[in-house]
Amino acid sequence: MSSVTATTATYLDRIARARAEMERRGVDVLLLSVGSDLPYLSGYEAMPLERLTMLVVPRDGDATMVIPRLEAPRVVEQPGVFALRPWNETDDPVAIVAGLVSRPQVAAVGDTMWARFLVELLGHWPSDATEYVRSTTVMNALRTRKDDAEIAALAAAGAAADRVADQLHAGEIPLVGRTEAQVSADISTRLLAEGHDVVNFAIVAAGENAASPHHHPGDRVIRDGEIVLTDFGGTMAGYCSDITRCVFVGEPPAEVADAYAVLHEAQATGVAAGVVGAACQDVDRAARRVIADAGYGEFFIHRTGHGIGMEAHEDPYMVEGNDQAIEPGHAFSVEPGIYVAGRWGMRLEDIVVATTEGPRSMNHANHALVTL
Ligand code: ZN
Ligand code: ZN
Ligand code: ZN
Repeated sequence: MSSVTATTATYLDRIARARAEMERRGVDVLLLSVGSDLPYLSGYEAMPLERLTMLVVPRDGDATMVIPRLEAPRVVEQPGVFALRPWNETDDPVAIVAGLVSRPQVAAVGDTMWARFLVELLGHWPSDATEYVRSTTVMNALRTRKDDAEIAALAAAGAAADRVADQLHAGEIPLVGRTEAQVSADISTRLLAEGHDVVNFAIVAAGENAASPHHHPGDRVIRDGEIVLTDFGGTMAGYCSDITRCVFVGEPPAEVADAYAVLHEAQATGVAAGVVGAACQDVDRAARRVIADAGYGEFFIHRTGHGIGMEAHEDPYMVEGNDQAIEPGHAFSVEPGIYVAGRWGMRLEDIVVATTEGPRSMNHANHALVTL
């Protein structure tokens, strides 16, 4: 589930690199529960349930997966990567975790581990003796640099999302007279038909609703003479797609066409800025400058992009203030928008992977404001 081509050797390599990063960062133990770090290192994805599943990775010592006994049969064992430590319904799984390693000076915990387990862990390792840091401290150096198999998975997911965008552009997805929610359901069905395992979101926003970047598709009926913003993505073989395209039902008024021309240039400029060695914030600045220079600066109300991989949003973020250098294998969205409240909105989004040969787009669907 976690990756198309990951093998035991992949996980052994990743654990070894995680340990090297722990050494570099002075982290004594890595604790991974619900979330993507766990399948990245072990191939096993924990059920997001109240029973604790946790991979315990000491910097020096064998890794152990503490898991509810009833879920242990789902684990594909990876010899040499981790040992299984099933716990019974009457056991205290947090005490088991705490007993696996001596009290650490620095413990790295995953972002999406349930707070209740951290609260219980604090009873064993109080924060006056143990410093708690985010697992990203260790894992970002690994997870943000996608390897060839991961890039291939992102490209395949992007191509599948492109095919749905192509269907939209070809007029194969009826719009006028249907509600946003109906079109959203239609897009979701098509994402699955094109190979996604799950749909993560399918935003459909018509007319003035498009001015709300994360609009929830509802009963609003799509009419002639308005812009329709679609932003959709899912997970395919463990990796995410995410694309935004707008179409116009009929001929767009000059105001919309002019703004879209600016948006298109801003997006292409942002993509071109995503080169190895540039800062993440340079991508945001490049896209934002085009929009600001054209006089729409106040209408671009969010960051330009987010990292993507096993999660739809992950590090690195393309935002002012992030001076982290772009590295080969960094995968991120470039998605500027222009939003005029109460009237219309527009956004254009591709996923891009930085390579030593330059930015490589995972999306190739038509970037124009296609009229239907
Ligand atoms: Zn999106
Ligand atoms: Zn996005
Ligand atoms: Zn373009």
